[in-house]
Amino acid sequence: MHDFHFKNGELCCENAKVSAIAQRVGTPFYLYSYKTLTDHFLKIQRAFAPLDPLICFAMKSNGNLSVVKSLVELGAGIDIVSIGELGKALLAGADPQKIVFASVGKTEEEIAFAIETGILLFNVESEPELAQINLIAAKMKRRVQAALRINPDVPAPTHEYTNTGSLKKKFGIDLGTARRIFRTQAQYSHVKINGVHIHIGSQIIGPRPFVGAIKKVADFIDGLRAEGITIEYLDIGGGLGIIYKDENPQTAQQYADKVVPILEKTGLKIIMEPGRFIVGNAGIFVTKVLYVKDNGLKKFVIVDGGMNDLIRPMLYDAYHEIVPVAQTRGVPQKCDVVGPICESGDFFAHDRLLPRVKKNDLLAVMSAGAYGYVMSSNYNVRPRVAEVMVRSSKFKIVKERETFKDLVRGEKIISW
Ligand SMILES: *Cc1c(COP(=O)(O)O)cnc(C)c1O
Repeated sequence: MHDFHFKNGELCCENAKVSAIAQRVGTPFYLYSYKTLTDHFLKIQRAFAPLDPLICFAMKSNGNLSVVKSLVELGAGIDIVSIGELGKALLAGADPQKIVFASVGKTEEEIAFAIETGILLFNVESEPELAQINLIAAKMKRRVQAALRINPDVPAPTHEYTNTGSLKKKFGIDLGTARRIFRTQAQYSHVKINGVHIHIGSQIIGPRPFVGAIKKVADFIDGLRAEGITIEYLDIGGGLGIIYKDENPQTAQQYADKVVPILEKTGLKIIMEPGRFIVGNAGIFVTKVLYVKDNGLKKFVIVDGGMNDLIRPMLYDAYHEIVPVAQTRGVPQKCDVVGPICESGDFFAHDRLLPRVKKNDLLAVMSAGAYGYVMSSNYNVRPRVAEVMVRSSKFKIVKERETFKDLVRGEKIISW
């Protein structure tokens, strides 16, 4: 599943000792395994081989240039959600014809830049957005391709904040409106509506929500075809769940077994947008114990990483396994693992059984490769941490830790 394991009582990433890396780069930091991340991509590629889909890595889950580059080298396309991500995807060498662009609020500037770049598809999330893209494309004397992001209104059993496939959420276009847009598409003379897109949510463990949503849009596409409206692409989004605690998520192959037959029948070119599945278990967050305190009621392990570095526990009530980097014996004790930030939401774990740890011990927060660094901030004027990648026994810094200069860049003390 991943390449973080204990060897002689020491946590290793592939063949590199985590403690040795910590000594060189300082703490806290994110650590990625090249092998894990590329293996996960290849697993999807193999499972879906009968369809030869375009696998667009959802770079909002991890936008590090070296991470993106590692996947681009294997033939990955990129699913972007902003002009910034488009710029980084291009820097990482992504082929514009393998880039798809989703976002409920694409700005004029973003649309123009994406047209100029020549991306494969705009995944359009509303009718006014389609009109806007058409207008800008007309001005630029270009014709672009779009897919309509359908909100299939299916239940997705995941956290409220990662559920996107219900009409109570802002995402996509309802089926009725989408049908009307397809029927009246002639008015958008600079946009070829050439696909349908869905993305129903994230960290989805079983196949049922995917199957339900895909069947629903497959029927929708059949209906269009009966009216003589044809498209080329079906983008089934991302959302595959991973193991954080004791989940038993479908494998790429199990997912493929369920959905490939339905997708095959559509005869369309398939696009996928996995994010978490590729990078989630390919990264850990390494942090150092600063203090241990016991207030009589609770024991707190205070570490040098905080919610500004990894916000998932606070934002989604997410569970991350936490292990000491050097295995220790002794009876596990219940404690809260918390950061230094002035917020009660600044925690990595509540009432967690951990072996006894002491000052300067290193802890690894597992499965932190997705929605980790990318959601980090400078709250409390804390520099963003370093990112490191391991390949076999070698490690390289793939993003430098921010300095004080970075923290005040662009800021001015003015006088009136
Ligand atoms: C976030 C997102 C993804 C990736 O979701 P994962 O759960 O990380 O696989 C894919 N497509 C779209 C449109 C997204 O917003």
